[in-house]
Amino acid sequence: MHDTARKQMVEKLVSSGYIKTDEVRQAMETIPRHIFVPGEMQRYAYADTPMPIGGGGQTISAPHMVAMMLELMELEKGMTVLEIGCGSGYHAALAAYLVGAQGHVYTIDIVEELTENAKRHIAQIGLHDRIDVLFADGSKGLPEHAPYDRIMAACSASKVPQPLIDQLKDPGIAIIPVGSGYTQSLAYVKKIDGELIEKNYPGVVFVPMRGEFGR
Ligand code: SAH
Repeated sequence: MHDTARKQMVEKLVSSGYIKTDEVRQAMETIPRHIFVPGEMQRYAYADTPMPIGGGGQTISAPHMVAMMLELMELEKGMTVLEIGCGSGYHAALAAYLVGAQGHVYTIDIVEELTENAKRHIAQIGLHDRIDVLFADGSKGLPEHAPYDRIMAACSASKVPQPLIDQLKDPGIAIIPVGSGYTQSLAYVKKIDGELIEKNYPGVVFVPMRGEFGR
């Protein structure tokens, strides 16, 4: 039942243009989203909507948003990725699939209960060797393992937190929602030859980024 629903979800994301590459398509066909949502929600796991995951009103992002971010990230095998806002662990699992066994994903959440759940979900699908789940304030990044080839956030800051720019490799790409309420956009920051190139994709909604460099 879940396999068929997942295939249909992916087909829709391909025909609506959110999924563009075979790599992202394969990742979303492979990683079971239903494992990452609470038991009673599993039968709705392949609807293209955000869903509550507990932790005081937090949500797993809608699949089209995850697909859009994954396409913008251009993940390659062997890359090191930092995620701010682990939530259920779904997006981190997709990134881990895309960077392969030689790559690594560090994902942080500021809600401990969510990090515990995410660790369980990730272990359940056998990707625990590639993903470190940490309970901390991710607005400061994670200097211990910097720099990162890619940085992504699933929560919205007032502006791109400076520590995240500092911890981005050159060349590297960061995708960070900025703004508040319903006036948010996805900031795409590319670091290359010591310069920053920034683009903005408006019309997104994420939960607020808390912590020192969030708001
Ligand atoms: N990527 C997630 C979606 C997470 S929703 C998934 O695939 O399920 C955004 C998450 O950001 C929430 O869980 C929230 O607790 C977290 N968050 C908010 N501010 C944070 C901060 N400063 N550091 C780390 N996580 C933060």
